[in-house]
Formats: sequence, C-alpha cells, structure tokens
Amino acid sequence: MELWQQPAHGLQKLLSKGEISARELMAAHLERLREVEPLVQSFITLTEETALEQAAQIDQRRETKEELAPLAGIPLALKDNFCVQGLATTCGSKMLENYTAIYDATVYRRLRKAGAVLLGKTNMDEFAMGSTSEHSAYHISKNPWDITRVPGGSSGGSAAAVAAGEVSCALGTDTGGSVRQPASFCGLVGLKPTYGRVSRSGVMGYASSLDQVGPLTRDVTDAATLLTLISGYDPLDPTTIKEAVPDYGDFLLSEVTGLKIGVPREYFQGADPEVAAVVWEGIKLLEKMGAKIEETSLLSTDYCSNAYYIVAVAEASSNLACIDGVRYGHRVQADNLEEMYIKSRGLLGPEARRRIILGTYILSGDAYKTYYLQAQKVRTLVKEDFAKALEKYDLLITPTSATTAPKIGARCGESPNLYPEDDYNVAVNLAGLPALSLPCGFAQGLPVGMQIIGKPFGEGTLIQAAYSLEQETGYDKMLPDVVAVDSKGVV
Ligand code: GLN
Repeated sequence: MELWQQPAHGLQKLLSKGEISARELMAAHLERLREVEPLVQSFITLTEETALEQAAQIDQRRETKEELAPLAGIPLALKDNFCVQGLATTCGSKMLENYTAIYDATVYRRLRKAGAVLLGKTNMDEFAMGSTSEHSAYHISKNPWDITRVPGGSSGGSAAAVAAGEVSCALGTDTGGSVRQPASFCGLVGLKPTYGRVSRSGVMGYASSLDQVGPLTRDVTDAATLLTLISGYDPLDPTTIKEAVPDYGDFLLSEVTGLKIGVPREYFQGADPEVAAVVWEGIKLLEKMGAKIEETSLLSTDYCSNAYYIVAVAEASSNLACIDGVRYGHRVQADNLEEMYIKSRGLLGPEARRRIILGTYILSGDAYKTYYLQAQKVRTLVKEDFAKALEKYDLLITPTSATTAPKIGARCGESPNLYPEDDYNVAVNLAGLPALSLPCGFAQGLPVGMQIIGKPFGEGTLIQAAYSLEQETGYDKMLPDVVAVDSKGVV
C-alpha cells in the first residue's frame, strides 16, 4: 500500500517503528498532491516548505530517540477559516484575501503540539455558507470519487484533500452539517462534537451558537485520536465545557450488544431510495451484531431547516459585521463613507450577501419577534424532541444526506434553503448534540454516509458503534481513483 493510502494511525506505526522517516512520509503526500491537486483543487493555500522543515525537525528528534508526539509527522489540512499565525485565512472570501492571521486557533495549537504537520488551508464555501463548496470566491473543489461532482460543503476542500490522499486528516467546521455532509459525499468519517466540547477560539465564526470544529478522517480510529487531542476546556472560548476529556481511543471496541438504537422514520421519507436502502443495510448489520433497533419518530423534523436558517443567518449577520473594510477585510477607496462601505462590501459573494441582508432584516424591528424569537422557540422544541428520544435510545441513526454528491452546478440558485441535504444535519446543531458520519456503502457508485447521533458528550458511544460497523464492513479501506474527465464529463 502507498503511504498516502494509509490512515494516520498506520503511518504513525511505521514512523515509530523506524520503517519510514517523517520526510519520506511528507514527500509521499506531496507527490500525491502534485498528481491530484490539479483535478480536485482542495486547497487555497499550500504550506509545502514549512511542512518539509517540520518533517525534518521530527526526524532529528527521532534520531536522538526523543519520544514522538502522537501525531508526529502526520500531514494535516485545515479549512481556511482556522487562524494560523502568519498564514492567509481567507474564509473562502475575496474580502479576506489579504488577511494574515496573527495567532493560532486553539485546535491547531493542540494538533501542532501533538506533532501534526500542516500541509495547507483548504477551500470552502465563503464564510462556511453552503453545502457544496461552490460558493468559494476562489475555485470549485471536486469530489475525488467523481470530479464532475461536488465534494459537499462547506468543508469540501478538507474532505476532498483527505479522500484524494493529499493529507491523512483534516479539520472542518460544522454549523449545520459542514463536516458530516462532505464526509458522507467523499466516503470519510466526519465527526461533529457536542457543542462546547471543542474550542472555537481562532476559528472564524459563522453562527456561534451552532458552530463546532470536527475532524475529517479515513477511519474511526483517526477520528477518535483527533477528537481526544482537540477536545477540552479553553479559557479563550467561554463556551467550552470544563469537563474531563476521555481518551476516545478507549471506545474503539467492536461491541454493540444491547445498544438501543432509534431510527427516526422522518429521515428516510425524503431520501433517495438507494441511499435509504444502503443506510438500512448498515442498520440491519448492527442489529445482527447485537444492537436493538426500533423505528421511532422525531416530530420536529419538518421545522428544523427553517429554524436553522433563521438562527444561522441572524448570527452570521452579527458575526460578519466586522468584515466591513474598516475593521477587517478589503477596503475600497471612495469619496465618502457610505460609498466606501458599499464598494468594500461589494467584494462579498452573492450567497454571503444574501444571508447577511436576510440576517440583518431578521434581527430588526418587528421581524425579530416574528422570525428570530419564533425560531428560538422551535429550537427549544427540537432540543426537547431529541432529549426525549435519547432518553429511550443510546443512539439515533439516519442517512447523513438525502442524496449522494450532486453534479457541480446542480445546486446553484437563489434561495439559501436550496439544499435538501441540509435537512438531515441541522437538527443536531440546533440541539447541540454530537453526531458522526460513517461510510456505509455506495449508491450509483458514490459513497453513502450513515449519520449516528448521540447524547450530549456521548462521543464515546458514537465512536464505539461506528468502529464496530467499520470493522464489519471495511469501507474505510476503499479509496477513490481520482480520474480526469473530458469537457463532457467522460472518463
Ligand atoms: N449548509 C449549511 C449552511 O449553508 C451548513 C453550513 C455549515 O455547516 N457551515 O448554512
């Protein structure tokens, strides 16, 4: 097996046994990157030089027999909304094209301390607004399984980079599915932790009450490692919880006997029948392995998407008010103040503009009561709905997305709620719960993800169930070929 085909834990073993050097490991990924990056276009910024320097430093430490950190030499990618000191952090926007971060996001600091080596910053929908990564102001990333299709979004670049073997793991942010859904489209494990589990310090906010950072990895073992490393209280983020972080590696057990799993029927009704069938196959397998499966209902499902879009755009309009050309962002010279604002903000893409305008309206005058307060009430009902279901069940299982990855261009249009995919992801963010997307098969030759939802801070149980199923199915071993197509999309 080529080095770039291995998950991080496989590479770690080779490195600690002295079978490969960190430089060899990095060189293998860089070679792969040069081969496939022109096709998948995962990155906005590459940090090849510093990556090679850091790999050399790790090799020096190996030579002096220093104990290696758990991710020593592992090539990592970060979505371009994570601040890394001295590097451009564009958030997929032309507004921030010239912005250089002045400090490191806490999660990056933690991974760096654990030895991970940053290979670059990945493409994303502008300010994380979108489900396909087509709203990036830079370029459109492609799905490594079929480059005529999107990798999902908004963390599409991170997902494409891991699936194509350019890096072995990546971080994304999940406000309403942006880690889980691209993981599902690209055949990866994507984990959205409980709200408050992982620090958001140094991560540019989209909707602060919904955002969480999560890992995108080849398999569940890597997801457990990354989650353990990035989790925990951070004085720089007051929403992080002061609760001990388990070693999630302790949950890598192939055992589901007695686990009670609820399957909410609403999540299958609008799904592509092939996708639904693949997810059901996975559920039946869990049953055969000893889990107790029961169909159930989440009556709030129909209202989630509307409530989500109201809360998300309202918070976004407030978070992004500082990207105005005065405090942050590109500034266009003009004759007067108003013109300067208008021209500067003209650099925002249509989707970001639409959402900022809508969010500003929602928070103004009577609209606040009509929309925002109503949405918050619905959010409470959604939370209660899940809390009730999770009293009865240890886990809930749904498809991660109603469909497989759509063709590039198929989801472009004028309304923010264009994405049937979002309907399956946003409830988890409204309720602040942890959820994981696990590859569970293929439909029309494209990866299908199973969404496993857990109790607050129940990431361990998610990992255990996902690991058990992964051991049975082996979908983590399947990688895309990444093949070029002609202008008609033919291989
Ligand atoms: N697709 C959703 C949105 O556009 C979710 C995005 C995200 O999780 N960042 O809001």
